[in-house]
Amino acid sequence: MQFEQKILKWFDEFGRNHLPWQDNPTPYRVWVSEIMLQQTQVATVIPYFTRFITRFPTVRALANASLDEVYPLWAGLGYYARAKNLHKSAQIIKTLYKGKFPTNFEEVLALPGIGRSTAGAILAISTQQRYPILDGNVKRVLSRHFAISGWPGDPKVAEKLWQLSEKTTPLLRINHYTQAIMDLGATLCTRSRPKCALCPIGRSCQAKKLNKVLDYPTKRPKVDKPIKAITLLMLMHVKKRLILLEKRPTHGIWGGLWSLPECALNENIEDWCAKHLAINIKNPTHWTPFRHTFTHFHLDIHPAVGKISNTIKLNSISENYCWHSFDQMLTLGLPAPVKKLLTSLL
Ligand code: SF4
Repeated sequence: MQFEQKILKWFDEFGRNHLPWQDNPTPYRVWVSEIMLQQTQVATVIPYFTRFITRFPTVRALANASLDEVYPLWAGLGYYARAKNLHKSAQIIKTLYKGKFPTNFEEVLALPGIGRSTAGAILAISTQQRYPILDGNVKRVLSRHFAISGWPGDPKVAEKLWQLSEKTTPLLRINHYTQAIMDLGATLCTRSRPKCALCPIGRSCQAKKLNKVLDYPTKRPKVDKPIKAITLLMLMHVKKRLILLEKRPTHGIWGGLWSLPECALNENIEDWCAKHLAINIKNPTHWTPFRHTFTHFHLDIHPAVGKISNTIKLNSISENYCWHSFDQMLTLGLPAPVKKLLTSLL
């Protein structure tokens, strides 16, 4: 039996076939699930998917909403750029395709936030078109089974893996195979402690034969990331239970999310608040700094708390700043470290 047939047979017996997006797998539903599943596990995604689809049952419903309505449904999933791209894509689909999700590969690939593998997965699962995929799980299965050395982020290695994915993708049952190989990577061929004894392709697995399963895929070469340090200000009106938040610009880190006002580490906080926010604070409290790591750099966050008791004039501050109530603040679209800080205030 061939590689793909063994995987399909295993899927028929052990694969996951009751996931919410497998019920009525339209391109729209599969798209939302695929975007949510990037960097996030199935169990976490399920309730988010259900809530999202209930609130935005169609591309048009998503396109007609504001980003501020979308972000709260994403809160906790992280990587908010994914939500922003979903929203932007929905608006493109509404304009270019009258709200109907395209089923042409090039058109799907051209949408923001959709790469070659995601485009392939959406079309394979929802329309049964034969496109190979190469997400993190599939990269791991293929590089182990065929003992492909080299970091998959290297274009030459990636090309080899794409060729293997193309070669092993069957002509029939493409929707099941796509789901099956992703499931195999997520449940058996896991990053650590793979369950090789239960694996349907274990007998032909090269990495297993070499007893070097954990050496594949080759890890990303270490690069020292630059470090940036900032002060994040938690400016609170304690009596009124209000906190000052800043809407981030659409582009750049945390684009479009609500964050805390930020100043350079060497700034005097009292002077900065007086100059930029027309707020007088005295003796801010400093909290223990912590590190948040992005793909390209480390951000050392130095939190500081400033308590305000004077009457606040909302219009005295730039339109990017807004006072939010303690009760409401955690329902907003917030970057993970900011959410962590605000939670500690409660
Ligand atoms: S035998 Fe082990 S390493 Fe090889 S594909 Fe199966 S689970 Fe992965």
